[in-house]
Amino acid sequence: MLLDTLAGNAALKEQLSARMKGRGLSHAYLISGPEGSGKRTLARLLSAAMVCTGAQAPCGTCPGCRKTMGGIHPDVIWAGEEGKGLTVNQARELRTDAYVRPNEGERKVYIIQNAQAMNAAAQNALLKLLEEGPAYAAFLLLTDNPGAVLTTIRSRCEALKLSPVSPKEAEDYLLRRYSDKPPEEVHQKAAACGGILGRAVRELEGQGDDAVQAGGRTLLALLAKGDELSMAEWCVTLEKWDRESMGRLLARAQLLLRDALVTQGGGKAISGGEDAAAVLRAAQLPAKRLLSAVDTVEQLCAAVQFNVSSAHLAGALCARLYTP
Ligand SMILES: [Zn+2]
Repeated sequence: MLLDTLAGNAALKEQLSARMKGRGLSHAYLISGPEGSGKRTLARLLSAAMVCTGAQAPCGTCPGCRKTMGGIHPDVIWAGEEGKGLTVNQARELRTDAYVRPNEGERKVYIIQNAQAMNAAAQNALLKLLEEGPAYAAFLLLTDNPGAVLTTIRSRCEALKLSPVSPKEAEDYLLRRYSDKPPEEVHQKAAACGGILGRAVRELEGQGDDAVQAGGRTLLALLAKGDELSMAEWCVTLEKWDRESMGRLLARAQLLLRDALVTQGGGKAISGGEDAAAVLRAAQLPAKRLLSAVDTVEQLCAAVQFNVSSAHLAGALCARLYTP
């Protein structure tokens, strides 16, 4: 189940999955936990569950889930920038927007980051929306300091508190996600992160040449494996990359994918070392699939030139690589 992509927090996940099977999810949640504890991950999963069209939400494979995990679902709206809360004007705009019916599905989900950083006026504008908003609208408020959120707002939301994960959970999660890194390095970061996975992830997500090259191989490996969920998880990590590095990663992937096409056609690949193995595996894919992946990556390489953000590029990569 998709909910398992959130590490640790077993009780919280049980509580939520019982709600999903039973009377359904609430229309407002206050998700709290320290920086790096998985608030955004949980918000993404809950939004996916809300817009999922599969049999068992969140299924992770329907277009609704895939678009949400890739950050491109038109009815899942992220509000509040990093480090900043919504202003009162933004809260009012959000209110107007909430009365416009969803584009694709039955629901519209607003994820409000840094809820603690909103001033009282903005919080009150939001409160009105929580109280009187349309039934299809759901709100996920994210905060690392729930005490700074007005009591009136807190009382309207169901509280979801994220906890640090155990050392064993941290290690299992990081080893699975970073199977291409030396296990000793992963082990060391897992031990040092104090159960806050975001910290370890930040340190493991370098963006140097090594990271770019490894990224190219990861893309091919995940494509060859046909594992959409892992691909979606990986694409989410790319959102934090700067655009320049993202461009290099896409260019790298393009090179490797073309090499796979050449190999498939009986030609000689130019990639060597670790890359050669990834290219060989990708060359086993049906030609049509490989061609469409080359196409997607080429288009995104071009999009980098037009100031498209990494988050959009990562989202489009996730959504399009698996579209035949
Ligand atoms: Zn789904």
